[in-house]
Amino acid sequence: MDWTPAGLFTVEAGRLQCALCPLRCVLDDGEVGRCQVRRRRGDLMETATFATSVRHKDAVERKPFYHYRPGSTALTIAAPGCTFRCDYCVNHRLSQFGREGGLPWAATPVDPAGLVASAAAEGASVALSYTEPSLAVELTLALAEYGAAAGVDVLWKSNGFLTPETTALAAPALAAVNIDLKAGDEHAHHRVTGAPLRPVLTTIRAMVELGVWVEVSTPLIPGCSSEPGQLSRIARLIAEIDADIPWHLLRFTPAFQRTGTVPTGPEALRDAVAIGRDAGLRHVYVERALGATGRATRCPGCGAEAVRRGVWTTEAVRMTDGRCNACGHRIPGRW
Ligand code: SF4
Repeated sequence: MDWTPAGLFTVEAGRLQCALCPLRCVLDDGEVGRCQVRRRRGDLMETATFATSVRHKDAVERKPFYHYRPGSTALTIAAPGCTFRCDYCVNHRLSQFGREGGLPWAATPVDPAGLVASAAAEGASVALSYTEPSLAVELTLALAEYGAAAGVDVLWKSNGFLTPETTALAAPALAAVNIDLKAGDEHAHHRVTGAPLRPVLTTIRAMVELGVWVEVSTPLIPGCSSEPGQLSRIARLIAEIDADIPWHLLRFTPAFQRTGTVPTGPEALRDAVAIGRDAGLRHVYVERALGATGRATRCPGCGAEAVRRGVWTTEAVRMTDGRCNACGHRIPGRW
């Protein structure tokens, strides 16, 4: 593993504290933080996240983003590590790097200029996904610097567990972020992720206010976010921030340490859509279980179908300059 210089820390009277995530680890020389991918070296910080073992092109709908450049592709990479410890994580071999359930990390260092050039050649964005991208904030900034010159956007699929300092640093580098919201109260969120909920809500609000396009995803986790009461609280929390935020309801599939449960059925997803709409959310999506209806963007003004999608494709866009072709209503997004 290669360690490279990192930012987002303070040193006062020999006490070094990381400022990237709300855990705010205080580290002795040589000590690794709870994320396992940042460490103290003297009075400096280093990161192991300037590397990836994943590099492939994907439909942006698969991240998922439904209101960001429909039909475009994202060159997707994943640096190691996560600040959460979800027991159902389908990407645990990468995200739980350095912990039980992770794998020895065999990744290649990322060349930001080369990566951006390959994305630019195909009109793609660069997405950091599968693990927690905020841990790779230094890589994100480097990608955005090259991306600004080449017209290549940088996207995140994040858990939203950021300090305000990290959000302020990363937001100008990001075109869009999809943030997981996995529970509607502190107790349930801590049970699922091992971390508090409030910083995630703060990040969602701040990203919106800082002009980043934000979508939210909720997996229907049995015994937690699959419960109607939890879903209703989650939907209301999103609506209080902005009812135009697209909400993706994700089917739960057993994985990692949670294998004794059954996958989410279509009825539960249909009920969850109704809960989202009752809370006032204008764009609620389900990838497969409800067919094309669950994936379509409908104009909030007249109800016309503005974007029709296949599972990971965009089949028709009936908008011009972000406005519905039928009635002219503006539909929020980065089209
Ligand atoms: S990013 Fe890592 S080192 Fe920094 S506070 Fe969070 S867990 Fe600790």
